[in-house]
Amino acid sequence: MRFQSMGEAASEPSNVSGNGALEALAHVASRLGVATSAERLRRAEIDGGHAPDARRLARIARDCGLEAKPTRLSWRHLADFGRAFPVMLRLDDGSWIVVEEFRRVGDTPVVMVVDPRHPTAPARPIDELRLTDHWTGEALLARRRLARAGEDRPFGFQWMLEQVLRERQVVRDVALAASVLSVLSLVPPMLYMVVVDRVLVHHRTSTLMVLVVLIVAALAFETILGWLRRTMIAIATAKIDARIGLYLFDRLLGLPMDFFERNTTGLIAHKLGEVRRIRSFLTGQLFNGLLDVLTLLVLVPTMFLLEPVLAGYVLGIGVAMAVIIALYMGPIRRAYAGVLEAEHRKSSMLIETIQGMRTIKSLALEGRRRNQWDVRVAEATNAATDLQMLANQPQTLLAPLERAIYSGSLCLGAWLAITETSVVHAGTLVAFTMIATRATQPIVQLSGMMQQFQEARGAIAEVASVVNATPEARRVDGVRPTMRGAISFQEVRFTYPDAALPALDGIDFTVEPGTVVGLMGRSGSGKTTVTRLLQGLHQNHQGLIKIDGIDLREIDIDHLRSRMGVVLQDSFLFRGTIRENILVARPDAGPDEMIEAARLAGAEEFIERLPRGYETLLEEGASNLSGGQRQRLAIARALVTDPALLIFDEATSALDPDSEAIIAENLRRIAAGRTVLMISHRLASLVDCDQILVLERGRLRDAGRHADLIDRCDTYRHLWFQQNRHLARGPEHGRHDPAVAVARR
Ligand code: ADP
Ligand code: MG
Repeated sequence: MRFQSMGEAASEPSNVSGNGALEALAHVASRLGVATSAERLRRAEIDGGHAPDARRLARIARDCGLEAKPTRLSWRHLADFGRAFPVMLRLDDGSWIVVEEFRRVGDTPVVMVVDPRHPTAPARPIDELRLTDHWTGEALLARRRLARAGEDRPFGFQWMLEQVLRERQVVRDVALAASVLSVLSLVPPMLYMVVVDRVLVHHRTSTLMVLVVLIVAALAFETILGWLRRTMIAIATAKIDARIGLYLFDRLLGLPMDFFERNTTGLIAHKLGEVRRIRSFLTGQLFNGLLDVLTLLVLVPTMFLLEPVLAGYVLGIGVAMAVIIALYMGPIRRAYAGVLEAEHRKSSMLIETIQGMRTIKSLALEGRRRNQWDVRVAEATNAATDLQMLANQPQTLLAPLERAIYSGSLCLGAWLAITETSVVHAGTLVAFTMIATRATQPIVQLSGMMQQFQEARGAIAEVASVVNATPEARRVDGVRPTMRGAISFQEVRFTYPDAALPALDGIDFTVEPGTVVGLMGRSGSGKTTVTRLLQGLHQNHQGLIKIDGIDLREIDIDHLRSRMGVVLQDSFLFRGTIRENILVARPDAGPDEMIEAARLAGAEEFIERLPRGYETLLEEGASNLSGGQRQRLAIARALVTDPALLIFDEATSALDPDSEAIIAENLRRIAAGRTVLMISHRLASLVDCDQILVLERGRLRDAGRHADLIDRCDTYRHLWFQQNRHLARGPEHGRHDPAVAVARR
């Protein structure tokens, strides 16, 4: 902080990076009763390293339940702030402070300032001169966000509509432009009326001149307004798109792992992509349709003013058209549901085929797949034809009615002119038919909109099926202990959703911090489930899981996962360089830490042989690396965060003997200062463990060291001798196998 001149020496800021902005925000948040911490905010912030600016801060604040607005203030504003405190101010060195109140000390007005990096220190009084010396005038106002109507409403048509209506200014301006346009649309018919009735009949050239000028002016005005309206819609659409995109991605990240296991990647992406359709319907057809309805408010009264009998005739036909549309609404909706289902089956099959292409080719399933595809395509085509045939009917019925408006009112008007006493001028008749045609436009469009409306509804259902899935339960105010890595399971039972048998059936064990624990058992015995529960991927377990003596459910889930390193059998690497991949969870780590992690993981050796070393670009799915190399990178990536608990789930199974030997050799150093949970079906890699847990069908069969288990546990002894007799049979093979080397130690 820059106010040393106040006579207190500022102590060194502790463990703060950047400009204190996040600390300031966390402080303000806690003053406003929102539980968060700078650490949590920092994790929410994507590009670590860069200090967030005011606009970014406002967005971070919004994510944690505040409403924040960057602004510029002066001392005078602060004096009138009243209950709007606390406020964040930015100083000229880029750092942020928090002003908690405005008061008088003696005669001098001062603000009470807290340095967010020392939030426990008392607030200090700063007077105007000192503050304005350093303050840039930039400020961030924050208050607790009150749940807006519909904020936590599930995703749906109303939600989308609200997003559109939230662009209040644009909606208002566009509506205004539309109203003016609808009045202007009266100008041409009225002018025709005057031309025919006055100019032609009475041969008035001067009137004609005036009319020409009027027409040109109206045209120019209309053109400009039309341009404005489209521009505003384009801007609003972009904003709405951005907001919806952020929302969808947020919801997606919040979904539990279960969801992604039950739905394929392709299908989720396909469903979310449907949001495009809804948006274009809302901001396109629907919006314009509503605006057209607005013009009716002007057109219909004008018709009645011009000629009430004709107006009644037109209105009657209009109502008949509306009734036809209403009658077809239901059947078209049902037909569209059929189309959607058929399309769904079709795209699921396409996605599955692409994803399983390797298997399809190796099993020569192309022919069978093609037949299935034919069926799917036929289904989809039939459903689409049904829909088109159905949609054809109202359109066919509406077409003559639409014609009848124009021709009918012309004939009716002529008849009225001949028979009635009231004089219907030729010009009025022309003007009337023009207006009548214009007025029925919205109804005609409505019939076209029916199908699009059904499409939008279908799209909403698709998106909602992803977005409205129950999100992962997250404790916002969970504890954030410094983890040492002690684990205890007490009578833990867990059944996967929709599974008949429990995956874990009453498991008890404890793990001392800093030990290496092996987990063995047949495939399906529940080993992976144990590690998944530890990561908080499923939260509905029974019994008690404790980490460092704290119930897992009490711990902040982000914190928990950030203190764990997990390496699975098949690791996913992101597209990017090797460096980016290793540092993905800790972008601020130095090169030394990265190289050390790579060395421990046995990856350094192959990275250095690559022409571009750590800067080598990985393709999608890291297909330019071998399985073993990918695995070693994944281990390095886990190590770089220095986790308190390291989980290897069959992580070394895919490794070639050389790499496995490197890891086995480094295991002591890898395990130093943390707990390691190691799942392996090769018992040889578990012999050195401090404890080996033997799982069988979701139960803990036994636990102990290798020497004890081999004496007393049948399952273990059986598997051990099975594996080693096999190895012993081929001595050459055995000599090279590091597992045997370990076993013989
Ligand atoms: P292991 O890792 O020991 O091979 P797991 O812990 O993966 O075993 O699985 C334990 C049991 O839970 C198995 O019977 C398996 O069928 C079931 N299971 C595992 N994952 C799921 C899942 N996502 N949904 C339903 N059942 C599952
Ligand atoms: Mg497993």
